[in-house]
Amino acid sequence: MYSEASGQLTNFDKSGVMFSSNASATLHSSICSSLGVSQANLKAKYLGLPSSWGRSKAETFGSMIEKVLSKMQRAWSSLLKGRELLRNGLRWQIQSGNLAYFWEDKWVPSTKDFKIASHKPPYCTVQKVAEVIDPTHKIWKCEILKEWLLKEDLEAVLAIPIAAVNRDDLLIWHHTPSGVYSVKSGYALAKQICHNSNGSNKPSGSLILGTDFWNSIWDLDVPPKIRHFWWRVFRNLLATKLGLFRHKCASFGECPICRKGDESVEHLLFDCPWTKGVWFGSSLNMRVDPGSITNVTRWTNDLLQGAVLAVILRDSKGNLLDGCAKSCEASSAAQAKAHAIRLAYLMAQALNLSRVEIESDNKSVISLCIFETVPPWEYSAIILDIRGLASPNSISFSWTRRTNNEAAHWVAKACLSKSLPVNWVVCPPATRLHTHF
Ligand SMILES: [Zn+2]
Repeated sequence: MYSEASGQLTNFDKSGVMFSSNASATLHSSICSSLGVSQANLKAKYLGLPSSWGRSKAETFGSMIEKVLSKMQRAWSSLLKGRELLRNGLRWQIQSGNLAYFWEDKWVPSTKDFKIASHKPPYCTVQKVAEVIDPTHKIWKCEILKEWLLKEDLEAVLAIPIAAVNRDDLLIWHHTPSGVYSVKSGYALAKQICHNSNGSNKPSGSLILGTDFWNSIWDLDVPPKIRHFWWRVFRNLLATKLGLFRHKCASFGECPICRKGDESVEHLLFDCPWTKGVWFGSSLNMRVDPGSITNVTRWTNDLLQGAVLAVILRDSKGNLLDGCAKSCEASSAAQAKAHAIRLAYLMAQALNLSRVEIESDNKSVISLCIFETVPPWEYSAIILDIRGLASPNSISFSWTRRTNNEAAHWVAKACLSKSLPVNWVVCPPATRLHTHF
């Protein structure tokens, strides 16, 4: 009847008949032969379960319950470990600073544990991060911060972009660019924590390189092998003579070219007379004072921080209408470009312009302005601003080649070297780039 209703058939090969202990052996065989089914083996298991059990279920299932319990215990303890791991990698991403607590919470992306390392002054009454943000201009209250914070903390805080419109802070996963948790990044963090707790920590005094730093390196507009080379430099993976000597793979650590000192990364890249010529002969035309660069990573890090934003406003015929330049703390090239786009937008808004087209030479930032993909946490506050601002107005975004953007780069460079004339908008400078103005 079941087969007829369900359309399923009975598999007689896998079926068995069970008898009570009162049934005789003759009865067993006659019933089995008339049904065409063999007698069930009472000791047999099917899918891990006994095919029959007696009165005592505790006895039958005891070992099984034990197995399940121990598995659950393991699952629970790994769940607890997972929760700990999650707590380790979660932090606040500041938008307007309304949720994160200044001294207690994890919210500073480039410090070691995402917290403020400086000690809280006894007179300080500040609780939330928002209290150190100027609510009108949406900038950090620099003077107060300078008073309280150590240099490292101060630089790290000033590089955090603030949302131009009030928006709740976001709780994010630090270890992916988007701030969304991924199993791979969780595993990598767990491995790292395990590695650190085994006592094989980083050498003391080494600079902690944040995601910002690495992003700036990966964002560089250079062939991949160059980026890879610098990655090896910062990871201390170059096979220098000194490194080989320390690992007992070379009999001496001296520079084989000049023999004027140990071949460290700094010697190799800056101090060796042979290298100096390379720097000077390059388009950078750079002179390096001997011994002036003692730590290549710190040198690069300092070089990457600090940027100037330049915005140039033109009419539909390409004539220069207005422009502005201002310095900003940015932890990556992309973050600075996003800053510049927001500045351009705010400028267009202040001038009450419509049908504005904003161009930038950074493809990924432009696509973040157009598409609703999750922005990198480093500058999510800026991208969310741009998206929020752009929708009701007729503003469009487009990518342009860097060569078409020379004027803006010139303004930024001139501003950085403090040689930008005050009246550069009215009287565009007569440089070789004049035609672009
Ligand atoms: Zn040398």
